[in-house]
Amino acid sequence: CKIDYQAPADLLDGRVILVSGAGDGIGRAAALTYARHGATVILLGRTIAKLEAVYDEIEALGGPQPAIFPLNFEGATLKDYQDMAETLHREFGRLDGILHNAGLLGRITPFEQYNPQLWEQVMQVNINGPIWMTQALLSLLKASNDASVIFTTSGVGHKGRAFWGAYSVSKFATEGFVQVLADELENLTSVRVNSLNPGATRTQMRKTAFPGEDPDTLRKPDDIMATYLWLMGPDSRGHTGERFDAQPPRQ
Ligand code: NDP
Repeated sequence: CKIDYQAPADLLDGRVILVSGAGDGIGRAAALTYARHGATVILLGRTIAKLEAVYDEIEALGGPQPAIFPLNFEGATLKDYQDMAETLHREFGRLDGILHNAGLLGRITPFEQYNPQLWEQVMQVNINGPIWMTQALLSLLKASNDASVIFTTSGVGHKGRAFWGAYSVSKFATEGFVQVLADELENLTSVRVNSLNPGATRTQMRKTAFPGEDPDTLRKPDDIMATYLWLMGPDSRGHTGERFDAQPPRQ
């Protein structure tokens, strides 16, 4: 647990970092935080207006000029990921980090009633899309001398819970894929792959999952950024195939 990590202001200077789901919630906070620490951030997401708002905020705080990459994991094809890799290769020549943060909750409902189409959508957005995007971007990650790939997991990606259906299964898959890829890249010390569980955080997704909960009892995305910084920056070198929590478990 690195929740007390104090990041130097220049932690991510000169690094090019892709953040998915950068327009809202935890991804928005991470994009702004990474930019504030010197990173050139590629803002990936499906709602362009939200990405533009984050872009403007980064400009206003004087961070390095970000880039916007509109992409919807639900409809994205392998060609889209290849095109993305070509564009990023042309613009930056390498990638020093990916925060896989975009996520879809689906429905909290008994499995007997789970809609198969929705199940497929959740798997597409939470795991299949990110996996094929990662495959397309691997050569760019290998071109970096210190790349960190972070996949976002959840408490239900570790221990199954009734009614959490595809979301829980997609997060188990996420943690499994992190172990597989980290093991494959074990001898390539310049690329590490880990999973990070943000823990209960005050966002729209959390509100949808727990409508009766008082949001004031939850940490805000900005409050959980220490581990996001540590894992993206050079101080986490040597850690790969591991799972981290961004906040202590709730009572
Ligand atoms: P939000 O719902 O607030 O944000 C999710 C982000 O993902 C949004 O920017 C959204 O874009 C984007 N997104 C959703 N679907 C797609 C898609 N098809 N293509 C591209 N982008 C998409 O969620 P959180 O910030 O709470 O969650 C962030 C991550 O943290 C997720 O992976 C989630 O599973 C995980 N998590 C969150 C917890 C919490 O308590 N909040 C706890 C444990 C894990 P748009 O804004 O356009 O909809």
